[in-house]
Amino acid sequence: MAIFFNEEFLGHVQDPFHPESPERLKGIVNKLKEHGLWEEVLPSRTGKHETLLLIHDENYIDFIRTCGECALTLDTAVHHETYGIAALSAECAVDAAMFSKREGRPAFALTRPPGHHAGKDFGMGFCYFNNIAIAARRLLKDGDKRIVIVDEDVHHGNGTQEIFAKESEVLYISTHQSGIFPGTGHLEYVGEGDGEGFTVNLPFPSGCGDSTFDVAFADVIKPVITQFKPDAILVSWGMDTHYRDPLASLALSSEGHVRQVQELIKLSKICNGRITFMLEGGYHVPALSEVVAASIGSTRGVDVPLEFTDMIDNSCLGRGTITKCKHVLSDFWSL
Ligand SMILES: [Zn+2]
Repeated sequence: MAIFFNEEFLGHVQDPFHPESPERLKGIVNKLKEHGLWEEVLPSRTGKHETLLLIHDENYIDFIRTCGECALTLDTAVHHETYGIAALSAECAVDAAMFSKREGRPAFALTRPPGHHAGKDFGMGFCYFNNIAIAARRLLKDGDKRIVIVDEDVHHGNGTQEIFAKESEVLYISTHQSGIFPGTGHLEYVGEGDGEGFTVNLPFPSGCGDSTFDVAFADVIKPVITQFKPDAILVSWGMDTHYRDPLASLALSSEGHVRQVQELIKLSKICNGRITFMLEGGYHVPALSEVVAASIGSTRGVDVPLEFTDMIDNSCLGRGTITKCKHVLSDFWSL
């Protein structure tokens, strides 16, 4: 798996106590270096206004660029440097997705700020521009016909869902914790108009972990993606599903999380090996770092020992959600 990164991502600081801090990327980079995995690190190009226009309204882009010091929401502040770094983050996502297209193998956009809560004309939840939506649109412009976005962050990607809700070219599948921020991602919501059936939501109760995610992958995620026949898989990669994460209460272990990554990479054989992971959340830095390092290590034959391996959910606590989801999807997919 190739890594796309830019040192400038470390310059984005909302405030010194904000959980979405540069320490997240520093932790990942150090862990990768510790295991000899800081190789094939490719620089991202400068962020471009026209790339942002693939998804975002011009007025919104200009507001982020010119507001100086302001706040989009209580937890999402804009500073003078925010526009440049957030635009670079989006460009990094595009670069990684285009690399995966050219090379037919996995890529990872090690970016921040994250993106999946940002809509066409709004930012929230630590997100300014929707990195993964921009990358998906870029691939469609480049001739791809069908893109699947798998959103494994603990929070629902409300921005991404809204952007593609009425389109059949982008299938959006989200696993998230129910009842927490941002409050969207209901199981019954399947998209609208031409996009009906192309949104899949699996909102799990707190405590769901490894066995729930394994069953969800086997019973819903894999069969839906296989039937969709995507040209590429894009992953909103959030490690705040981890049992050590301080912001939410799903319970994936590091092992369970790495297994999800490996299954997705295996599945990408159906689209010529095209899969791109884009960093979203994950706020327990040691857990975040070991999951990223072990996942990348597993694509390079490097074994990274894991510290956080408690098996909290071994009886598929989320089975009720999975069963209901299969029922809701039965008009659209054969499950
Ligand atoms: Zn999150």
